[in-house]
Amino acid sequence: MTDIRLDLHCHTTASDGVYSPLEVVEKAVQAGVTHLAITDHDSFAGSDSLRGIPLPLTLLPGVELSLRDMHGLHLLGYGYTADTPLHRTVAELADKRRDRAKAMVDKLCALGMPLDYEEIAAQAQGSVGRPHIARAMVQRGYVPSVEKAFKKWIGNGRPAYCAGYQLSMAQALPLMRESGFVPVLAHPAELGVSDQALRALLEVWRERGLMGVEVYHPSQLRHGFARLDALARSMGFLVTGGSDFHVEGDNHGALGAMVWRSAAEDWEALARSSPLSFDYPTRAHSR
Ligand code: AMP
Ligand code: FE
Ligand code: FE
Ligand code: ZN
Repeated sequence: MTDIRLDLHCHTTASDGVYSPLEVVEKAVQAGVTHLAITDHDSFAGSDSLRGIPLPLTLLPGVELSLRDMHGLHLLGYGYTADTPLHRTVAELADKRRDRAKAMVDKLCALGMPLDYEEIAAQAQGSVGRPHIARAMVQRGYVPSVEKAFKKWIGNGRPAYCAGYQLSMAQALPLMRESGFVPVLAHPAELGVSDQALRALLEVWRERGLMGVEVYHPSQLRHGFARLDALARSMGFLVTGGSDFHVEGDNHGALGAMVWRSAAEDWEALARSSPLSFDYPTRAHSR
């Protein structure tokens, strides 16, 4: 397996991505991606909707959870098993996201920016997030861009921000492991901590069941990949990567954008990591 291109992190209309799961698959294929993981925030609806459909790439179902321990702490989970304790918790998290979005819409209304909550909720075919609110604000002309909506109103600590309900790392890791999922720390650069602090955190999380580190993420570009790659491997972690694609031209990457030398071996190692297998009806044919 030499001609391999991984993208193990992207979003669809099941959360805050702009394209449907099938559109994302089509775009990934066009970008040369051979192995794609759909990792919507608090939703499996995207990969679920593709079950049983033969696809021209290998699809790995996943999810991305935002955790409460630290700002920017997100955990990716990969696995083929359906209907696990993780799936039930994810459904609850998506449910709570609706209340949180409603609370943010109420705050914006009080700030003189009324929005139609039902319309916003209908945009999300799995879990609703701040980008849905931001896009509605742009549509109403309250802000010129999604970026500005975050900066001024709904970014962390801004006047219309609500944190919502989040799990802790101590809850999420065992939940993923008992559900047969491989937990991978998403975009470590977004934690904004030193190498030394990251190592200390990784030691604690490894103890609790963390299996991998997403080294090849656009946020790591400005720091370089070599040190993080070496740190992750030296600690025995799987190494993964992905674009975090949501839509073209936003503050995330383009599908297939992350390319690294050891991708084929890293995929093999991920695929070998015990729980990643079985009972997923889609048998993707290779290209
Ligand atoms: P939520 O999960 O609802 O808290 O929303 C977080 C999501 O908002 C992230 O996954 C990004 O897709 C998006 N996001 C975060 N910060 C920004 C920003 N400054 N500009 C645009 N989108 C952002
Ligand atoms: Fe997002
Ligand atoms: Fe994230
Ligand atoms: Zn993401």
